[in-house]
Amino acid sequence: MSRIAYVNGQYLPHSHASVHIEDRGYQFADGVYEVCEVLDGHLVDEKLHMARLSRSLEELQIPHPMSDRALGVVLREVVLRNKVCNGSVYLQVTRGVAPRNHFFPPDGTAPSIVVTARNASVAKSSALAEQGVAVISLPDNRWDRVDIKSVSLLPNVLAKQAAREQGAYEAWFVDDEGYVTEGSSTNAWIVTKDGTIVTRPANEGILKGITRTIVLELAEREGMAFEERSFTIQEAQQAREAFITAATTLVMPVVSIDDMTVANGTPGHIATTLRSLFHTQAEIADT
Ligand code: PMP
Repeated sequence: MSRIAYVNGQYLPHSHASVHIEDRGYQFADGVYEVCEVLDGHLVDEKLHMARLSRSLEELQIPHPMSDRALGVVLREVVLRNKVCNGSVYLQVTRGVAPRNHFFPPDGTAPSIVVTARNASVAKSSALAEQGVAVISLPDNRWDRVDIKSVSLLPNVLAKQAAREQGAYEAWFVDDEGYVTEGSSTNAWIVTKDGTIVTRPANEGILKGITRTIVLELAEREGMAFEERSFTIQEAQQAREAFITAATTLVMPVVSIDDMTVANGTPGHIATTLRSLFHTQAEIADT
């Protein structure tokens, strides 16, 4: 089946879809994005993703490409045209096309928008979650506005590749004080010996993950103890459990950190429970 991409008002064959060479996204990484899970053909947590997109655009003074309602139509259309049942939909908005110049382009320059979607193997992801994954740690060398979901992801790309080269699935960034900020494309969590779920507060040093928000709501709903505070790699290595979250990986147990086994090296009970209950708390769109 040929894939379809939405590019600036047109649905195009994925293999031919392209943007201008002077797109600000291409030249300056001057854009933002969102990745939304698709479950049984339905968008998951659409409202939260749209709200975060708005915030990212506003923080960077990029005009909204269209209303949330219109964007919802496009997202659904791309999901449908690509026959995505379980997977994700990706959307990217940049400051548009203009002659290369660091200054913002003239008022009225239309932002560029691209939407793509693809299926993902639920079986593969479940198999990985049954095994758990390894993470490594690296100094956090990103800028201090990681709360904005910018397409400027070079440190994240390098960190993810370093993880792969060391046989790991994810890299956790560590700040100057020795505290874990987040993964290269995930939020980082531990469960302490007394069973408290811990993740870094979202006000500094991390992207406020939508999955993170839902997991915290879920923990509260289920009467699980949780705390938003920073933790070190050493504390994580000695924790009862560790896990990561993102819209594409959901809750993924971590069983090793910098080659040290976490607990007995198998996925923890709390991470596994949160994973299995995740979609009972997430907002699943009707259509
Ligand atoms: N942190 C970073 C750096 C990410 O790239 C992502 C995923 N886009 C997340 C956290 C998790 O966010 P979400 O749960 O919204 O996918």
